[in-house]
Amino acid sequence: MQHTIPTGETGPCGEKMAEAVAACVHCGFCLPTCPTYQQLGEEMDSPRGRIFLMKEVLEGGLPVDAAAPYIDRCLGCLSCATACPSGVAYGELITSYRTRAENVRRRTFSQKLLRKLILKTLPYPGRFHLAATGGRLVRPIARLLPRQLATMLALIPGSLPRKEPLPECMPAKGKRRGRVALLAGCAQQVLAPQINVATLRVLAENGIEVVVPRDQGCCGALAAHTGAGKEARAAAKHNINVFPRDVDAIITNAAGCGSGLHEYPLWLAGEPEQEAAGHFAARTVDICQYLHDVGFRPPPPLTTSLPVAYHDACHLAHAQGVRSAPRALLESIGNVQLCELADAEICCGSAGSYSIEQPEIALQLGERKARAIIATGAQMVVTGNIGCLMQIESHLKRLSHPIPILHTIQLIDRAYRAEG
Ligand code: SF4
Ligand code: SF4
Repeated sequence: MQHTIPTGETGPCGEKMAEAVAACVHCGFCLPTCPTYQQLGEEMDSPRGRIFLMKEVLEGGLPVDAAAPYIDRCLGCLSCATACPSGVAYGELITSYRTRAENVRRRTFSQKLLRKLILKTLPYPGRFHLAATGGRLVRPIARLLPRQLATMLALIPGSLPRKEPLPECMPAKGKRRGRVALLAGCAQQVLAPQINVATLRVLAENGIEVVVPRDQGCCGALAAHTGAGKEARAAAKHNINVFPRDVDAIITNAAGCGSGLHEYPLWLAGEPEQEAAGHFAARTVDICQYLHDVGFRPPPPLTTSLPVAYHDACHLAHAQGVRSAPRALLESIGNVQLCELADAEICCGSAGSYSIEQPEIALQLGERKARAIIATGAQMVVTGNIGCLMQIESHLKRLSHPIPILHTIQLIDRAYRAEG
């Protein structure tokens, strides 16, 4: 796309945004894979339309607020980046654009309040636990509350699992083959702390020692993807400082966090920590990819046959390119039969805080994903992201098909522990 973006005036990511715009040749191959284009049928709600809108704003020809509704409806799922034959770096473009636009756009009082609530709660496990507990108490009067607040309450599970404190170091079983550090995640520690416990056990089973840095914080992805650049940069700098350098890899088990860590060099463009951010991102790897690369030791077969639907989390498949490793690990477990979903590349509608900020589209996508899962006849669903897990679980229940859903690593852990 031809442009006249003044890269010298558009911040440290100006060049990258301009490159992404220039790479788009309007071919439209991305349109059929874009969930919002599929649901809304509007060019401006497609990747190509959004690239045009961002270009116009960056050139100064369109006010930020005119483009905002279309940009806000983007899930950041990056299905378009996978489909694009021209290699448009859509993720870099939209993340950088959102940070820049946030400084000048106007928001209503309730939008500001909701954003503050999300950014001051979700990234802090202690606060989130408190808020989730309190939220369950006011759920009976949710109908009286503003729509987005009611949506937030609806996403809180009926009961919270008990806390699972993690050891600072989990030794490898048998001969040590590697040493890694684990990013524990924020919301995941409150909503499904068993995922981290399973991750530690599976790594130990595979001869990997794991350190869990005590002072680690939120990865910053939630902030970055909603344009809160200052908060995202602070989170990145903090984690770069507190994670040890003498480990083989930094392991993530939440796709959204993993994709966030890979974006640290982008968030810290022009900052003194940019180089360190590059090293940090290069050492970051998803748990399934790591196990696959290190030489996975398959668990014993399940006692009975289990059809399992694997859901590709967008921030794993599209953002990190991790598709085959989780499937290979699952297929190595005897009696697991993998079921592929129709339209597997389409987002489930979770997308960080998207289901709170854009509840209607999130609802349509969640229901569509749940129906695709039900159609496979699977008796279990597995995925690599806590947000997808919660979204799919709630929609399966809404459709009266409460198929059990686990993180991929939990099913592997169960197999090692012969729980079938
Ligand atoms: S597929 Fe790529 S090049 Fe084609 S319109 Fe979409 S973003 Fe542009
Ligand atoms: S990131 Fe997802 S929702 Fe946004 S334009 Fe690309 S495909 Fe569409």
